[in-house]
Order: sequence, then structure tokens, then C-alpha cells
Amino acid sequence: MQFSTVIGQLEVKSRLIKSVKENRVSHALLFLGAEGSGSLPLAIAFAQYLVCENQGEDDACGKCPACVKMKKLVHPDVTFSYPVTTREKLKNPKSVDFITEWRKAVLHNPYLGYNEWITELDSENKQGNISVDESADILHRLSLKSVEAPYKIVIIWLAEKMNAAASNKMLKIIEEPPDQTFFFLISENYEQILPTILSRTQLVKLKKINDEDMTNALMERHSLAKESAQNIAHRSGGNYLEAMNLIHHHDEEQNENKRFLEWMRACLKMNLKTINDLTQELADTSREQQKLFLQNGLHILRECLVINYADSSMIHFEGEELESFRKFSPFVNANNAERFIEEFNKAHFHLERNANFKILFADLSFKVNGLLHVK
Ligand SMILES: [Zn+2]
Repeated sequence: MQFSTVIGQLEVKSRLIKSVKENRVSHALLFLGAEGSGSLPLAIAFAQYLVCENQGEDDACGKCPACVKMKKLVHPDVTFSYPVTTREKLKNPKSVDFITEWRKAVLHNPYLGYNEWITELDSENKQGNISVDESADILHRLSLKSVEAPYKIVIIWLAEKMNAAASNKMLKIIEEPPDQTFFFLISENYEQILPTILSRTQLVKLKKINDEDMTNALMERHSLAKESAQNIAHRSGGNYLEAMNLIHHHDEEQNENKRFLEWMRACLKMNLKTINDLTQELADTSREQQKLFLQNGLHILRECLVINYADSSMIHFEGEELESFRKFSPFVNANNAERFIEEFNKAHFHLERNANFKILFADLSFKVNGLLHVK
């Protein structure tokens, strides 16, 4: 994982690189940043820069044997500690017990969040923590001689999840570190870390990702159009995890809108096959989903009226989606809009009272057919 994986944070990156060039990397760093700001990928990228055999001006080479191992998170001299949860057969779990899951999760999303990680461990109802056994295990790992790099690096993700016993044990190690050892602690919450740990680490503070850096990243990494990228960047509050959630939600929304439009077209032409397929598809979903489909339909019908009659600045659709709804919107007009809304509300009302979905949807499709032909 190179510095290029990390969105923005240019100032912090260059400060870290400068400390390497000036040979004054502190042996214990605390990467502090809110969720989604990128402290985990930044710490890993810095570790890779340190072990890289062919350091470039502003990033690791990405090709040397050390970089190749770092790319898979399997470098023997760079070890990880992170919160884990107990299992029935694993009363004293350590990071090493979950290393496969950890590599998979971080490689899949270097901006991994705590909740996502706990879900990955399949223990949503449990608290993850870093125990005193883990601190002992770190000591053990450090007692082994470094294999390839000139030094060893321990990356502790979410150091605030260390309980007091673990923190105190870690503190002793940090105070008297073995030779050529670096500790990179990562934290999202300054207040939850023991003051004694804070006083012995050098702070690397990450700001939230700024709108411009976020917009560019969303365009490059998610192929978003500039306008959507700006919109999501703004709403994400500088949190890349949140931005990804918003994109996911946006995709789902677009799929729902597409499905609705497909249904409207099928109703217009009374295409029974498509109506049947859609009925079956929706019948297989939950009642909540069916209700959402109708609610979203109402929302779209209103949006069609906006396209027809209101100022373009009030339209929410954009790009391709707007084009397809522009073609459909003339079918929703002043003479049928009210009845559309009435029929949808009625269907929603009956759905809430457990009406048979297939009968209800077939009936609504016929009514929509009639309404779409009102000029
Ligand atoms: Zn390299």
C-alpha cells in the first residue's frame, strides 16, 4: 500500500517523508484521525516506505521484494495488532488468530472502519478489544530477530481499544523499545487513550479529507461525474467511508428508479410479460421493500411534475437518469397527477394492512395504464 492509496493528506505525507530523509523518525508515532480520514492506509504506506528497498522521492517503489510483500500485507517485519472478539473456542483471542480476515478486510478496503471490521469477524453484538495477551504477543513477535528489513514495525490499529492492562504493558515496551523498532499507533479518539501513552508518542494528526481531494478521488476511483462527486464529497463530511456508503446508496436508488420506469413503460403498453416478471420480483421481496417501491414511485411522480412544470434548478435527477425521466415525464400531467397519487396512496394503505401483493400490484398496473393515457 503506497502513499498514493491515501486520499489527500499531502501535508502529513510530506512531513513523514521528510522525517525519513532527515533520519529522525520517532520510534513511536500516533496517527490520529477521524474515521474515514485514512490513518490506517497512511500508517501502512509509511511502513512500506520505510521498508522499501528503492525509496522514491515521494513514495515507495511498489516493485521491490519488500513492496511486493507489503502489497499483500505479508512482510515478516511489519506486524499488526487490532481489536478482536472472543469466540466460543477462543477465550483469549489475539490478532494473529484473525490475520487472514484482517488482510482480506484491509486489502478490500484500506479505509476499514471499526464497525465494518467487527461485522467481518461475524460478531456484531460483541465489543472488539486489544487485550493484555495481545501486548504479550507483540513482545514475543519483537523478540524474534528482524528477517528482512533493517527494523521491525508494529502497527496498532485503534489503540483506544486497548484496555488498561494492555495499555500499561504496551507502555513499558514503548518506553524501552527493542533496537530498531517502530510503533505506529492509530487512533480515532484522542480522549480514550491513556495520557501516559500520549505523552510517549509523537502525534501525526490527520485532518478530514477536504472537498477537493475527495471529489477528485471519487471521480478517479468510482468513475463519478464531477457534479455527483462534488455532491457526495460535500455530504460525506471528509469521511471516505461515508462517501462510499453514499455512493452505494446512490446506486441502489438508481436501480430502484430504473425498475420503476420499466414498470411505467410496461403499464403504458400493457406489456403483460414485463408486468408479470416485475410483480414476481417484487412479491419475492419483503413487505417493507414493497412499500418502499411505492413510496419511491410517489417521489418519482412528483419529480416528473417538477420536470414538466418547475424551474430546472429544482430537479433532483441528473445525467442519464434525467434524460430517461424527461422522456417519461410528459405522461404525468395536471390532469392525472392527483389520481396517480391517490392510487399509490391507496395501494400503500392496503399493503400496510397485509393485502395480497400480486393481486394489488396487478390491479394498480391496470389503473396506471388508464392514467397514463389521460392527456
Ligand atoms: Zn519498494
